[in-house]
Amino acid sequence: MTTELSPDALPELLERARKDYAALAARGLSLDLTRGKPAPAQLDLAEDLLSLPDGRHTAADGTDVRNYGGLQGLPELREIFADALQVPVTQLVALGNSSLELMHDCLVHALLGRVPGAESRWVDQERIAFLCPVPGYDRHFALCERFGIEMIPVPMTPDGPDMDEVERLAAGDAAVKGIWCVPKYSNPDGACYSDETVARLAAMSAAAPDFRIFWDNAYAVHHLTDEPVETADLLAACAASGNPDRVFVFGSSSKVTFAGSGVAFFGASPDNVRWLLANNAKRSIGPDKVNQLRHALFLRDAAGLRAHMARQRELLRPKFDAVQRILAAELGGTGLAEWTDPKGGYFVTLRVPDGCAKEVVRRASEAGIVLTPAGATHPYGDDPRDATIRIAPTFPVQDDLEQAMLGLTTCVRLVGYEKLSA
Ligand code: PLP
Repeated sequence: MTTELSPDALPELLERARKDYAALAARGLSLDLTRGKPAPAQLDLAEDLLSLPDGRHTAADGTDVRNYGGLQGLPELREIFADALQVPVTQLVALGNSSLELMHDCLVHALLGRVPGAESRWVDQERIAFLCPVPGYDRHFALCERFGIEMIPVPMTPDGPDMDEVERLAAGDAAVKGIWCVPKYSNPDGACYSDETVARLAAMSAAAPDFRIFWDNAYAVHHLTDEPVETADLLAACAASGNPDRVFVFGSSSKVTFAGSGVAFFGASPDNVRWLLANNAKRSIGPDKVNQLRHALFLRDAAGLRAHMARQRELLRPKFDAVQRILAAELGGTGLAEWTDPKGGYFVTLRVPDGCAKEVVRRASEAGIVLTPAGATHPYGDDPRDATIRIAPTFPVQDDLEQAMLGLTTCVRLVGYEKLSA
């Protein structure tokens, strides 16, 4: 962040920011830029799901989807998502409506049972830690907090986590049992893991024999440009490096079809898949195959999935463009902010001067613009620099989004110039 500001200009800039903020507060707005939810218009694209499976109840292999059973999920649906998630169909499991739920369950099974390769249950160990690339997804961190798993922050780079740090920590500490990764269009800064990052994750030595990469590929098909990013295949790389069990792949159709009624996926080595299915067999007599059949009929095949995501992109692109346009027009050259320009996914990260993020969020909230709490992007809600703000542009209608972004930039100017004047 370089400032092009001459000290003489500061009083006037602060004065203008104060006036703009007073005008903003007087408008009595009520806008929300918090959660990365699909907008109703995106959900409308999948409205046909509501009239499927249209009287059909037999899957391609003859399974009666109305009945119990089929723990691995319908093969025709797994086939549609296998390429996108880079998991062979035989190693992919289609389950309930939420991948977060699956991540939760995998942690619980690892705590209370034994993952392949484990010498003991995680809960029997004195200390368990996960590496947490930051900024990251608050719900990953909430899961760690819930289960008393220590979180060790590792800085993100545009190519993924700082791999020197990851290698050092994973090799040096047997309590480090895993790492959270959102490999494509990451939440929140849109980073995509480079081939080198993937190769190093697969091949690095880990002190814990049961080390797991929680590979949350939530945005695998959520491109915003004509150049879809392809990340390297971690599952294959792990197998090739002699660490076949190292990765759990997660994904879902939450931001493809319906965020509350999609289908979630788990992919891994044959041993890991057997482990999950054996654990699942205790908690369920089978997933919701009617919903899985509905999805298979609606999406048809991998090309159908891509075509559907192209329609999503048409709705999302103008919103992400507006965010870039407004940030550049209002904050460009001020030295008060830097931001990401993601090629996909659901978020933009805004970085403000150190010590300003919480205050920007507070001022925005007082003016009727709700933002994700500052700090949520870091373990324990603590961003040591207090500089990161997550923007979620998908849900509001275009006009509300633009109003909220303008308001946010006013708050950044106000707080930033106040700090410079202090
Ligand atoms: N993983 C990431 C990185 C997310 O951003 C989200 C939702 O915002 C989820 C998982 C939630 O996925 P699901 O709806 O499948 O539980």
